Amino acid sequence: MANAVCVIPIECKFGPISAFAYYVDAPEPAIIDTGVNVSAVQDIAPTLAEHGIRIEDIRWILLTHGHVDHLGGAYAIWEKTGRNAKVVIPKKEARLLRDKNEQIVDYKSLQGKYITDPAIQEKHITMLTTDISGTTEPDLEVVEGDSIHLGGDITLKVIETPGHSIGSVTFVLDELNWAFAADAVQIYGGLSGIPTIENPTLYRKSIHRLLEDVRPNRLFLGHPFRNINGDMESAQIEGEQVATVLQASLDMDAKLKDSARRHLTNGLPAEQHELYGPFGRVAEEIGYTGDPRNLPCAFFVTMHGYHEELIGLQIK
Ligand SMILES: [Zn+2]
Repeated sequence: MANAVCVIPIECKFGPISAFAYYVDAPEPAIIDTGVNVSAVQDIAPTLAEHGIRIEDIRWILLTHGHVDHLGGAYAIWEKTGRNAKVVIPKKEARLLRDKNEQIVDYKSLQGKYITDPAIQEKHITMLTTDISGTTEPDLEVVEGDSIHLGGDITLKVIETPGHSIGSVTFVLDELNWAFAADAVQIYGGLSGIPTIENPTLYRKSIHRLLEDVRPNRLFLGHPFRNINGDMESAQIEGEQVATVLQASLDMDAKLKDSARRHLTNGLPAEQHELYGPFGRVAEEIGYTGDPRNLPCAFFVTMHGYHEELIGLQIK
């Protein structure tokens, strides 16, 4: 077994939710994910300072995917390092780092499709774009099989774990087999009460791969997620719990798929629920009671994904 590597989880808070960034101590220190715009100043620099670490000394900014609560702080951290850190993002989501408008394009093709009130749409778009500290060209666009050397014998391997988003990757600390999967694993969903799954077919494959092939010793997630009882669990998971949460993620996927099959097979129902649009019956069946007018509105993203899977519209 390799020497343990010091990882500092940093909870980046915004509104009622939080997203984790992870500092990885190495000759070339890395931060995996970056919270939102304010996180560098509000959470990341102060937490690192408690450990005697300067945010300025970070040399790698590694993004698991392009959602604003993971990518939003990247530019601010990069500036703090005197633009010396290398910014790394999955190739399939690099456009989200280059251009804020790409967030709006994605919003409109997913949850925005089902948010009918233009004032709420506008509010969401404003939130999404103000949560990003800036745009930049990535230094590296990673794909399956790439490795990032943080100096010494510390290497992160890139494995593609799409599904939560189309380009999500997991960074795996070699030898220790610690997996920074962030949102690629959703268990029973976060605070919004449902997993965020853009593409269920890919999500299922990614979870099976983590469970059966990668078999991480530790799993570092992007948020605290719910367990089967609805309680929030820690975002840092180890030992036997790793397999338990991966299996729970598959169980929740099966439940969503089954409900979608029963209610959405013949196209989207004409019947419109006041909050849940064409997905009222699925919401009722799975016990979802959240308000999709609040961001992050996982509900519509996920319903859209399962409906498209049913009608054969998704990339496999
Ligand atoms: Zn995400």
